[in-house]
Amino acid sequence: MVSFLSSGVRMVIILAILALTQQFELCAGELEDRVTLAERTKVLSSKYGFKIVAIDIPEKKGEITVEPATSQRYLEYLSMFEQELDFYPTEYFEAISLDKLILCGQIAGADFSYEGYNIRLKQTIYLDVVKRELVNDSTDALTRKKLTIHHELFHVFDDVVHFDRVKRFYNDPYWWKLNEPSFLYHVFGGELPSNRGLSDAMPGFLTGYSRQTENEDKAEIFGWLMVDPAQVEIRQARDDRLRQKVTRLKMVVVQKCPNMNESFWAKVRRQNGGATK
Ligand SMILES: [Zn+2]
Repeated sequence: MVSFLSSGVRMVIILAILALTQQFELCAGELEDRVTLAERTKVLSSKYGFKIVAIDIPEKKGEITVEPATSQRYLEYLSMFEQELDFYPTEYFEAISLDKLILCGQIAGADFSYEGYNIRLKQTIYLDVVKRELVNDSTDALTRKKLTIHHELFHVFDDVVHFDRVKRFYNDPYWWKLNEPSFLYHVFGGELPSNRGLSDAMPGFLTGYSRQTENEDKAEIFGWLMVDPAQVEIRQARDDRLRQKVTRLKMVVVQKCPNMNESFWAKVRRQNGGATK
């Protein structure tokens, strides 16, 4: 029957068959990735005792809109993510009672995008898995992805320790004493410093982003202690305010999680000795 068709029509049919075949192969590959992804997140969830989910449809949560990533992106991210989670003793996750950790491909707020987002009192963290080099940021994308994991995990810990659920009020009176008496975080507007890279611009602060709020200040110190402890050590040796902040932060952590003692930090130091120069 095909022989009766003109060569043009035949070409169209062949192209359509080819397209369908390629589409099928693409779907089969994507399906295989999805199955692998579901298996790996399930294993991780049962290992750590909280739900780890990779979303496949967009979500809207309050002021943020969350978009999915491809299964391939999720799988690429998971290998790094597993290594970072592996640092923590299980008591840390028990202490923060994390409910859900959601992996996604974009977290958009009203004015800008977030690399990580923690929903206060819901014990829920969103992490954007897509690596993006940012023009206005001195950290590379991979370091920022790692930093964000620890940063968001610390926000939840910090709230468990310092957020009064009844009065709905965050209070850590000690932390303010570690800054210059005249210093105010950027809580009252103005241009917000957003750079996540290590900086010597202001004594007592590791990054520009640290100067946004005291919560961000702590989460940045914790994040950098996890991804590049050697650089934090160099800075705290010449910056007394920073040294006091690191000491205070480690003390609060070990009070709640006894296994996160000096041996824990020494292990992080051995494995993550120098991510940046
Ligand atoms: Zn934060």
